[in-house]
Amino acid sequence: MPGTNLTQAEAAARSALLQITTYDVTLDLTTGPDTFVSTSRITFTATTPGSSTFADLVGATNVSATLNGLPLDASAYADSRLALDGLADTNELVVTADMAYSHTGEGLHRFVDPVDEKVYLYSQMEVPDARRVFASFEQPDLKATFTFHVTAPEGWAVFSNSPTPVPTSLGDGNARWDFAVTKRMSTYITAIVAGEYVGVEDSYVGKNGTIPLGLYSRASAREHMDVDSLFTLTKQGFELFEDLFDYPYPFGKYDQFFVPEFNAGAMENAGAVTIRDEYIPASRQPRSFYDFRTNMILHEMAHQWFGDLVTMKWWNDLWLNESFAEWAGYYAAANATEFTDAWTGFTNARKLSGYRQDQLITTHPIAPEIKDLHDIEVNFDMITYAKGASALKQLVAWVGMEPFTIGLRAYFRDHAYGNTEFKDLLGALEKASGRDLSTWAEEWLQTSGVNTVRPEFTLNADGTYASLTIHQSAAPEHPTLRRHRMGVGLFDLVEGSLVRRTTIEVDVEGGLTEVAEAVGKKQPDLLLLNDEDLAYVKVRLDERSYATAVAHLSKLDDSLARALIWTAAWDMCRDGELPTSDYIDLVLANIGQETDSWGLSRIPVLAESALFGYVSPDKLPELQDRWEAGVRELLVAAEPGSDAQLIFAKTYAAATDTARGSIHGCMRGERTIADVKALLDGSWTLPGLTVDQDLRWRFITGLCAAGAFGEAEISAELERDTTQSGKENAAGARAASPDPTVKAEAWRLATMDPATPNATGESIANEFSRAGQPALDGYVHAYLDAAETILDKVGTHRAARALEYIFPRQLATQANLDVIDKWLASTTASAMAVRYVREGRDELARAMRAQQA
Ligand SMILES: [Zn+2]
Repeated sequence: MPGTNLTQAEAAARSALLQITTYDVTLDLTTGPDTFVSTSRITFTATTPGSSTFADLVGATNVSATLNGLPLDASAYADSRLALDGLADTNELVVTADMAYSHTGEGLHRFVDPVDEKVYLYSQMEVPDARRVFASFEQPDLKATFTFHVTAPEGWAVFSNSPTPVPTSLGDGNARWDFAVTKRMSTYITAIVAGEYVGVEDSYVGKNGTIPLGLYSRASAREHMDVDSLFTLTKQGFELFEDLFDYPYPFGKYDQFFVPEFNAGAMENAGAVTIRDEYIPASRQPRSFYDFRTNMILHEMAHQWFGDLVTMKWWNDLWLNESFAEWAGYYAAANATEFTDAWTGFTNARKLSGYRQDQLITTHPIAPEIKDLHDIEVNFDMITYAKGASALKQLVAWVGMEPFTIGLRAYFRDHAYGNTEFKDLLGALEKASGRDLSTWAEEWLQTSGVNTVRPEFTLNADGTYASLTIHQSAAPEHPTLRRHRMGVGLFDLVEGSLVRRTTIEVDVEGGLTEVAEAVGKKQPDLLLLNDEDLAYVKVRLDERSYATAVAHLSKLDDSLARALIWTAAWDMCRDGELPTSDYIDLVLANIGQETDSWGLSRIPVLAESALFGYVSPDKLPELQDRWEAGVRELLVAAEPGSDAQLIFAKTYAAATDTARGSIHGCMRGERTIADVKALLDGSWTLPGLTVDQDLRWRFITGLCAAGAFGEAEISAELERDTTQSGKENAAGARAASPDPTVKAEAWRLATMDPATPNATGESIANEFSRAGQPALDGYVHAYLDAAETILDKVGTHRAARALEYIFPRQLATQANLDVIDKWLASTTASAMAVRYVREGRDELARAMRAQQA
């Protein structure tokens, strides 16, 4: 359907021709469970009278349209576009159509809660899905004002970008909500949220008066909404951002909706933010969960300025939205909330995703070329988010926070309610800092890849440095060497503790950078490049420093420095410079004392992935034993009721993958299975560990993965847990099973069945490729077949999530690489599908290299 794939050239031509004045959109939500009636009345001007253009409208039926009062021929609507000919100076387009509710989280999503049959709708318009809700000119630089009218059952709660008006009863059980006109905005941040939502209101007195605040959720999830902490966080965010940006919140009121089956984490609709309702959890979650939620809530709030007030002209500058919102979210969390160590969590978790993505064959610049909408759909990735935020953190170190802030303020002032490009923000920052940022932008925004820095030194006879040089390298495919401002930390063992003696700040440039200030200083027990984590760079430890880290990492009283060392070890392991067994030993020896919430949550997951990805089959059984026994020890030793205890319980449940030791011909793992069963049925209790619903599903999924549990246990659990989340977890548990028939059905649901709810498909994809299952063997072929057809079968978003997560990463063999290469040479699959296949291939190749090392 090329009509849906708007190109940059088409968008540029359309915005040169048109100026949109107003949208008046009426949605009738009373016509049934499958469709709603949408009427879009658009006024706009054209610079060239008599010319032609088109509006966007996807999946519409019973379309009737008039342009300037004259009916359009039925043939005008074809291929998701409405042809508009003979434009006048000033035009009015009116389009009425039946539109389908979405079940993929794209357009107007409709959900019925299985707990109480209550109905919930919410819109998701980004990237190009307003056109699934109303006829529109769908591109970010055709901003307009919007007036929404909604007809819905009386008693529903209805929301949009403007404050909710008092509804007018229609006397037939329905009512009509007439919303006030909005500020000028892009189509992709408009919103409609309607249904039996419940919630609570508050307000914040901001720079421009009172901002009404709302928090809403499904009725069945309301009890889980921690209203006080959410409002506190919201107010902390407003206080920081209004001050930092020196620009009052631009959209009047601020509602946050926790919605079901949401595809992303959250969406920054102007004044009407939607958030996946997993973020008001029914079960206990570790601190890292709340740390992430805090960043996310602040990220969406930052978008009200970055993205909503000032918007990229075209999607190639998505980084102007996402990288800045990401940076601002972490900055605000660290400076305005209780999560003062948010940047440590960034280093321990989020940033690793950026490094990973940047080393895949499909990496791209932070500011890439985006020639059409298909290009952008795969760019909501960790280059745009994590690497982009890292690059901005480095930019702040490079130009200084004050000039950076002055530049941002000028940018918002100069471009409010408008659209911008790359050069506009760079220009504002250059003016404020007095520095030429063109080469910085070229190095950081327009090229790909991550650099590696390693220390090289010589010593004097007395153990002091005779020289210390930072050696910078780049991957051959991405040879750019960059400038980095970074700290060089010298740490010594003092009475059993690892203590920072000093940090030397240096500007690294080119292949070799002398650290003159280190000469004459005693060699430390641990030398840490990129101390304080200002830079986006892979760091190597010298031999002495690594030995110190293994023995004493937990004695280093600086969580960010520890995070950098954890990261360095992980990078060395992934790059085949550190045996996986050494990495596992580092984790088992030190993770029990780790206090950073993200370090604690993420590092065991990395260790497990290294175990099943990077270890050759002949060495695996011995290492599995060590891992399994080590995790059990950590679990038993963890402080009662601590996050560590909860996380090690989950890690131990996942370690049932090792229970498939029986595949290797022994009974390894039988104890793990017995332990997890005992934790589940309560015959083994650990003081302080409550086995709540979430943990029960983790245990059950682990046992299903090990083949110890099956449909009987899953069905029994579904009787206890009747929620939507229960259904999703059950689908995941089935997908984890090694039974070929059960696996085949899970595969069908995730990759072929359009009726599978999006969140259920995601749960299946997450659990499908469990380690060591013979049943996975045929799935490289199945994956390649799916890549050809999945987009048409299940839609863009579901296809992307499935292809990303369901790839059988455990099947690292040359034969499989050959099969994939042959497919890649001849496929006609979509660019998006090919991208995921190439990434999967890349990970298999890395696993094979690591195994050989
Ligand atoms: Zn965002």
